[in-house]
Amino acid sequence: APIHFEPAAFAEQGVSPPAHAIEAIPAHTDYATYRAHGGYALAAALTSGQQDPEAIIKVMEDSGLRGLGGAGFPTGRKWRIVRDQPAPKLMAVNLDEGEPGTFKDRVYLERDPHRFLEGLLIAAQVVGIDACYLYLRDEYHDCRRLLAAELAALQADPPCALPKIELRRGAGAYICGEESAMIESIEGKRGEPRMRPPYIAQVGLFGRPTLEHNFETLYWVRDIVQKGPQWFAGFGRHGREGLRSFSVSGRVKLPGVKLAPAGITVQELIDEYCGGMLDGHTLYAYLPGGASGGILPARMNDIPLDFDTLQPHGCFIGSAAVMVLSQHDRARDAALNVMRFFEHESCGQCTPCRVGTAKAAALMDAPAWDNETLEDLAQVMGDASICGLGQAAPNPIRCVQKYFPQEIGMKVETA
Ligand code: SF4
Repeated sequence: APIHFEPAAFAEQGVSPPAHAIEAIPAHTDYATYRAHGGYALAAALTSGQQDPEAIIKVMEDSGLRGLGGAGFPTGRKWRIVRDQPAPKLMAVNLDEGEPGTFKDRVYLERDPHRFLEGLLIAAQVVGIDACYLYLRDEYHDCRRLLAAELAALQADPPCALPKIELRRGAGAYICGEESAMIESIEGKRGEPRMRPPYIAQVGLFGRPTLEHNFETLYWVRDIVQKGPQWFAGFGRHGREGLRSFSVSGRVKLPGVKLAPAGITVQELIDEYCGGMLDGHTLYAYLPGGASGGILPARMNDIPLDFDTLQPHGCFIGSAAVMVLSQHDRARDAALNVMRFFEHESCGQCTPCRVGTAKAAALMDAPAWDNETLEDLAQVMGDASICGLGQAAPNPIRCVQKYFPQEIGMKVETA
C-alpha cells in the first residue's frame, strides 16, 4: 500500500516533502455522487418540515442505537436530554479514534463521508444545534483533506439548513477521546477530563449544552431513519440486538473492520469473518475492547461481545477493537504494554492514575508479580481516579491474575 505523507508537516519544518510523498484523497463517495443517489433527502425533509423531529427521536430509541465510541449511552435518550436544554446548543464529534486497535471510523470516513455528515445534520436539526465541532485525529492526514473538501462542497450547495461546522485537529492525546477532555482541547486548553457534574449535556463546550457523539454513531443514523428501527435492531445474536463494527487485529488470516451482529462471540468472529486463525496459530487469548477492555483466555471464547455482556468477567467491549493473541503470545506482555500505554497517556491531573500506572508498569515487568502491592494500586486507581483511563487501568492487572496465573508465578488452582 502506498504511504501517504502530509506535505504541511514538512512545510512547517521548512523542508520539502520527499519525492515519493503522495497527496491523495482516498477513493470515496463524493458530494455530487451522494446527492445523485438521493443523499440528504432526510436532512432536507427535516428542514422543510416534512419530517417530524419527535418521530426521529422515537426511531432512534426503538432502534436501540448506543454510543459506539465505547460508552454505549442510548442515542435517542441523549438527543432528548440535550434537546430540552436552553439554546444555543453545540455538538462535538469525536473523530480522534485513539483507542489502540480501533480503526473503524477511519475506514467508514474514507469511503462514505456524507453518510456521516447527513447523520450529523439530522441530529443537529432534531436537537436544535447551532454549531458542530469535528475533532479529527491529526494522524489521519488523508481524512482531513477528504473531509475538508467534502465539507466545502456541502457548504457551497447546502441541501438543508446547515449549522456552523468546524473541523478541528487533535494533537495525539489518547485522553482527548474522553468527552470532556476533548471539549477542553477544542476550547484550546490542555486536554484534561472535567469533574462531573455538571454533565456536558448541560455545561459543555464553551459553557453551552453539548451533544457529544462518536463518528460511527452518527454514521448509522441515516440508515436507521431510512430503513426503520427494526432494520438495525433486527440484527444480533445470542439475545443481543444491533450491529457492531469490530476492528479485528492480531493472529487472524483476515484482520480488518468486520460489520457483524451484536453479541457474536470471538470464535464466531474469527471463524466466520476473519478466515480463521493464521496458519500455525491457535487462539490463546483476546482483548475484547482495545487497551482498556481487559484480556480473556481462549476457553472463554463463547461470551457474546456487546455492551454489558463482558462486565461480569471484568472486561468491556468499548469501541469493539478485538485483538487476537495466539500460543506465541503472552497475556502478561499485552497487559504490560497496555499499562505502559496508560502511563504514557495519563493526563496527570490525579495522583492515583499518574503515579499508579507508572508503579504498576514497573511491578508488572518483574518475572513474578508482587500481587499484594498490585492489588493495592488497582484498588486505589479504580476508586479514586477522575476518569475512565485511571478507573479502567486495573483491568489488565486483574485479568492476568485471574485468567493467566501461570504466567506470573502464581499458584494455579486445580479443580
Ligand atoms: Fe487524567 Fe488519569 Fe485522572 Fe483521567 S484518571 S483525569 S487520565 S490523571
